[in-house]
Amino acid sequence: MSFAFTARLPLSRHAVDRDHVRRAGEDLFEGLRADANARVLPLWRGKALVADPVASVALRWVEPDRLPADLTSVYLGLSLAEDASEPVGTALVATILTDEAAASLEADESRWRGLRELATVLGDRDAGAFAEALALANWHDSHGHCPRCGAPTMIEDGGWTRRCPNDGSQVFPRTDPAVIVLVTDADGRVLLGSNAMWETKRYSLLAGFVEPGESLENAAMREVHEESGLRVTDPEYLGSQPWPFPASVMCGFTARLADGQDPHALLPDGEEILDLRWFSRDEIRGQEGEVILPGRASIARAMLEHWLGEPLEAGAPLQPGEPHRGGA
Ligand SMILES: [Zn+2]
Repeated sequence: MSFAFTARLPLSRHAVDRDHVRRAGEDLFEGLRADANARVLPLWRGKALVADPVASVALRWVEPDRLPADLTSVYLGLSLAEDASEPVGTALVATILTDEAAASLEADESRWRGLRELATVLGDRDAGAFAEALALANWHDSHGHCPRCGAPTMIEDGGWTRRCPNDGSQVFPRTDPAVIVLVTDADGRVLLGSNAMWETKRYSLLAGFVEPGESLENAAMREVHEESGLRVTDPEYLGSQPWPFPASVMCGFTARLADGQDPHALLPDGEEILDLRWFSRDEIRGQEGEVILPGRASIARAMLEHWLGEPLEAGAPLQPGEPHRGGA
């Protein structure tokens, strides 16, 4: 199958050198604020600004002195994009705005857009930078206190570390791995489930978080069993995509129904998964309007297209709804 899988993952694109050496530099943000060529991505409530509200193909980056100096910032790295409006090597920062700072910068709320909405229309540099910035912003938002003693922690290393002033302990940005599994049976059909948190008729691949002390492969087999009652085997890694909603990386696997398993003995767990169905390729192609398939930003859609060997119909419903737990 020549249908490239990783090229179909909108949030796995990147064109930023994360430049980890500079993170630890003295007075990093003072230097960046004085750098008229540096560019800052303003983030407000998980959203970024679009440069052009009609086309929505590029993010709006601002000069460092456009924003208050006392806000939380993270150093993203150096732009590598040849086709961005800034030259290669431009230092990129993300700054998390308060409501007041956001309104002062851009009062028109329709110009603030979420990553899921923009994932497939942004260029590589902006898609990757937004994912990086959002993941870090989510981490700062939920890790303001020391897990040992509860004291407020201080930001270091360009926003990539938080340190406790009491005990000196450091905490680092978290990413929670989740597995998502494309299960096939002996007839070449794919197993899709409908999640309790979704609207009816919406189906996707089975997915769930990796548990502590567990390999990705074992998590893939366990999740399928928990959600469907079926045993699967031969998990094979396909690729991954960051999913910072709020803090995951989705790891895609294929697996096949284990020998001796009856594909009809489906047992939805009734809590997370309400319905399970096997679909042939022809059934997936003919499902337009009947079944709502995963949204364009998701790894689930890329995995289905990889299995199908062609893109899903352009007219297939675009579904930006909430994924369950870590992904969709
Ligand atoms: Zn502490």
